[in-house]
Amino acid sequence: MNKSDAERLATILEGAGFEKSTEDKADLIIVLACSVRQSAIDRIWGNINQWNKWKTKKPLITILSGCVVTGDKRKFRDKFDYILTIDELTATPQKLLSLLKIKLPPQDYFRIHPKYESNFQAYVPISTGCNNFCTYCVVPYTRGREKSRPADDIISEVMELVSKGYKEITLLGQNVNSYCLLDKTTNQPFIELLKKIDTIPGNFWFFFITNHPKDMSDELTETLPKLKKAGHYIHLPVQSGDDEILRRMNRHYTASHYLNLVKKIREALPDVCLSTDIIVGFPGETEIQFQNTARVMEQAKFDMAYIAQYSSRSGTAAYKLKDDVPKPEKKRREKILTEILKKTALSNNHKYVDEVVEALVIEKIKDNYYLAKTRTFKNVRFQHTANLVGRFIKIIITQADVWGLEGILVK
Ligand code: SAH
Ligand code: SF4
Repeated sequence: MNKSDAERLATILEGAGFEKSTEDKADLIIVLACSVRQSAIDRIWGNINQWNKWKTKKPLITILSGCVVTGDKRKFRDKFDYILTIDELTATPQKLLSLLKIKLPPQDYFRIHPKYESNFQAYVPISTGCNNFCTYCVVPYTRGREKSRPADDIISEVMELVSKGYKEITLLGQNVNSYCLLDKTTNQPFIELLKKIDTIPGNFWFFFITNHPKDMSDELTETLPKLKKAGHYIHLPVQSGDDEILRRMNRHYTASHYLNLVKKIREALPDVCLSTDIIVGFPGETEIQFQNTARVMEQAKFDMAYIAQYSSRSGTAAYKLKDDVPKPEKKRREKILTEILKKTALSNNHKYVDEVVEALVIEKIKDNYYLAKTRTFKNVRFQHTANLVGRFIKIIITQADVWGLEGILVK
């Protein structure tokens, strides 16, 4: 979401006459912060102190935005020139432009046609904000309530991208499954949206993140195999495998509901690649509760998991709870889950060996080595002399390791 915001913001600034620069040469630096964990905020302190030293030698404007909690806003107030909400930057850029003394006609965030960083991969937001209030999470506070974007806008942006030759579209929302549920125009607004995107002519595939296990419906699971252009990759954050912890996280599902959902998804899309988010060391998480998470991980057989040590965030409901799992213990739990992930990912990857798969070439890694992504979002390395970046290829998988595959181009 931050990358997508940055693309939209870059469009506004370039429209106002700014040019992309490097950090040391810039006249204007805008930080789109991520407050989900404290570590990301800590890094900003190092940066801003450095930039403020530069200010003694050259003119420089610094702005802090993105996802920032109120407490941090207060602490950063004397360090940055301006602290603006993401809406003030993108939905109502007039505020930023007036601070910079630049006049531009008003624009709507969702109507900005961003200058995408890549010319074949693009993020397309379908909603912003979140209404779920998971007790550990700052997003509903920093990004506000969920707001869905009109389907017609999304579809015309995707159509435009496809007509320009974009090959990979990722639909973004904190909870894509609740897309438009607030204004009930159809029964299944997200599924309707996916179906419409699927019928857009052109050679492309699309992904969507993030699903919420409480809202991912059977209808969606049953629709997945019918979509010709949807990637066979589902990101389904479990957060914990213990029912009591899930309840205290305000997640509204149980471990068995989650595992049942995984089973249904695998039945519908046998080649699906599944990834998840997990938090270890939530306040009060006992060894037994942690072992329940480890067990769910074993059973779900994830391809990828973003495992985070719990970070207490001011303003959230869990902030009032004692962050009582010691750091070394959080580390130990993270390591145990990473070992399970390595085992399941490797075993999933082995199934690809000797198979021919379609993949989109993403970048040159080095010399004649390229990185491509399969329709299941797996990394594949291959060797080739010609530059195939941005093209679909067919590849036979020759080798599998934990984090990816290796293959040879099929003529
Ligand atoms: N809307 C998405 C993503 C939210 S933020 C979702 O519901 O999954 C991305 C991830 O950061 C979360 O899934 C969670 O695993 C992690 N996260 C959020 N708050 C956290 C916290 N306080 N400490 C550690 N990890 C956190
Ligand atoms: Fe945060 Fe939960 Fe919303 Fe995801 S669903 S953004 S974890 S509050």
